Amino acid sequence: MLSNIRVVLIGTTHPGNIGAVARAMKNMCLQHLYLVRPRHYPSSEATDRASGAHDLLQQAQVCESLDEALQGCRMVVGASARLRSVKWPQVAPKACAEQLLYEAGQGEVALIFGRESSGLSNAELDRCHRLVHIPANEEYSSLNLSQAVQVLAYELYVGSLNQGDSEPELVDVATAEEMEGLFQHLEQAMGDVGFSDPRQSGKLQRRLRRLFLRARPDRDEINILRGILSAAQGRKSMRISGQDEK
Ligand code: SAH
Repeated sequence: MLSNIRVVLIGTTHPGNIGAVARAMKNMCLQHLYLVRPRHYPSSEATDRASGAHDLLQQAQVCESLDEALQGCRMVVGASARLRSVKWPQVAPKACAEQLLYEAGQGEVALIFGRESSGLSNAELDRCHRLVHIPANEEYSSLNLSQAVQVLAYELYVGSLNQGDSEPELVDVATAEEMEGLFQHLEQAMGDVGFSDPRQSGKLQRRLRRLFLRARPDRDEINILRGILSAAQGRKSMRISGQDEK
């Protein structure tokens, strides 16, 4: 199951942290590292800090966008140093590991980490089914990036040792890109049918994202929803063109 888990680092500034993350991952039998627009990479500092985990670093995938790093993932969890004011489903490290391991029994999953200076942006949080927060000093809760990876990787490793033989039930849930397709279509259709102005509906879109991410629709359900949206868009444009003809 650990082989289906990818660790995604977004916009990492210090290459030493990338190396230290590779090491932390290899210690805990995780293999797949994705780097989204790292500031300085490759770098000798990263290689030095990786110590015996050069292989993992060499195989790391450098991506231009988060979309690219999340391709094919059925579940995305974001690691957040702060307890967010937005009501996002939040889990503790152990529960996070259990859920990710369960999902990883059925397909690819991702654990995403933010920048050293500013963490994850709202748009990046919007991609997550859940957030995980490592409990720490409330007045100083931001861990070094590689140490945060270490704590969560440890929980995943220990969780994988304790995982029973019971096979998870296979469900063909939508991937990250299929969910994005739905969200874009939804926003467009809501504008087309006059429900909302896409430029002013940020909060509404966020709530809808939360709803659908929570529901975990499968591919067929996404197709049904998109079919309904297309039909509504078509009818609306038919009505408008009908009116135009008069
Ligand atoms: N200053 C940033 C923290 C950046 S630390 C902020 O306030 O958001 C870099 C990354 O390490 C974070 O984006 C997060 O992914 C991870 N991280 C650090 N501390 C964490 C914690 N207590 N719980 C979960 N993730 C943490």
